[in-house]
Amino acid sequence: MASIEAIYTVLYFLLGGCIIFPPTEFVSAGLTIQHLLSGLLGSEEMNFIYYHIKRITATMIFHSFLPLFYFLGLAWTTSNVEIIFPQTINAWCFVLAVSVILPITTSLVGFYWSRNKWNNHPLAKKLSIFGQWRAVASSIDIEFRRIDKYTSGAHSRRLIATDSWILLTTTYDVQVAHQVDSHLTLIQTENHSLSHEAQVGGIQYLNISVESIDNRVPSFIIRLNATEYSDLKDKLTAPIRHAQDVIIRQSLSDRFLAAFREQVSENRPYPKPPDMDIDSCIGCMQVTANVKLQKLCDDAETGDCRQCYCRPMWCLECMGKWFASRQDQTQPERWMASKSPCPTCRAKFCLLDVCNVI
Ligand SMILES: [Zn+2]
Ligand SMILES: [Zn+2]
Ligand SMILES: [Zn+2]
Repeated sequence: MASIEAIYTVLYFLLGGCIIFPPTEFVSAGLTIQHLLSGLLGSEEMNFIYYHIKRITATMIFHSFLPLFYFLGLAWTTSNVEIIFPQTINAWCFVLAVSVILPITTSLVGFYWSRNKWNNHPLAKKLSIFGQWRAVASSIDIEFRRIDKYTSGAHSRRLIATDSWILLTTTYDVQVAHQVDSHLTLIQTENHSLSHEAQVGGIQYLNISVESIDNRVPSFIIRLNATEYSDLKDKLTAPIRHAQDVIIRQSLSDRFLAAFREQVSENRPYPKPPDMDIDSCIGCMQVTANVKLQKLCDDAETGDCRQCYCRPMWCLECMGKWFASRQDQTQPERWMASKSPCPTCRAKFCLLDVCNVI
């Protein structure tokens, strides 16, 4: 049935899905409720709590209009309502009535929440567990303005850790936990071999539960990429407990760099000639170059390692990353025994030929 109504319905549901769960393309194009209503919502940076109180209210009201917009669009597209609801006209009336009542209800709820300067909003109620809610809100706002806060996650589900609060924003809610009264427990890890963010060896997500000692504060679960775990830990005042048998996997490149470093430390070092000036590493420009390639191995079987005459130009970290980038990414178990060309002169070297400069 490729009728115009069916095409309209499919397109509307796709668009509606993109409005409720905006994909990255929508977010970067500014097609989100936050962006479209930015004048009304104010500044998140200045008034974090008021911003989210208004964002949640606006989101709820806007989403509740989607069924009504669907029917208005449908009425405009078709003259024959029985194509969509062939059984009886009553079904049509019922769904239409719901789509009208829904936005009226949410608008009334939104109006009720906004009375007395948002005293009735669920987020204000949640904050009042911690004390006078406006005082709590301003404490959160002040800490949110600091540049050293930790933030992570997608636009619609963002985790924020400030000096004393842990916040998780979701479409219709903001979860709040006071760090000193909360226990964080790493409860589960999820390993994905394929992901759009994946590097070699896949990606690992950690699920961490945040539970308050005060049982009026709802507990919640935060989910983050394992590579961000140490940044989060640095921002927390209390340690994250591990449930039994949960292991955080180091990324493949971290494991390789550790093994690379260890092998290089066993190789014969290269004494820097007194008249040689060594510049910063040309890979990262952060540290002084500290490795030199010298053919030290005895590669009798293949014989393709060559002496490199370049002066030290790279740091150990960058040389390790370069080496890893030249390997077969599907066979990491063979990297340690493989070779790579020198990044500058292309002479082949193996791990035994990388020397620390002393
Ligand atoms: Zn470097
Ligand atoms: Zn070279
Ligand atoms: Zn070699």
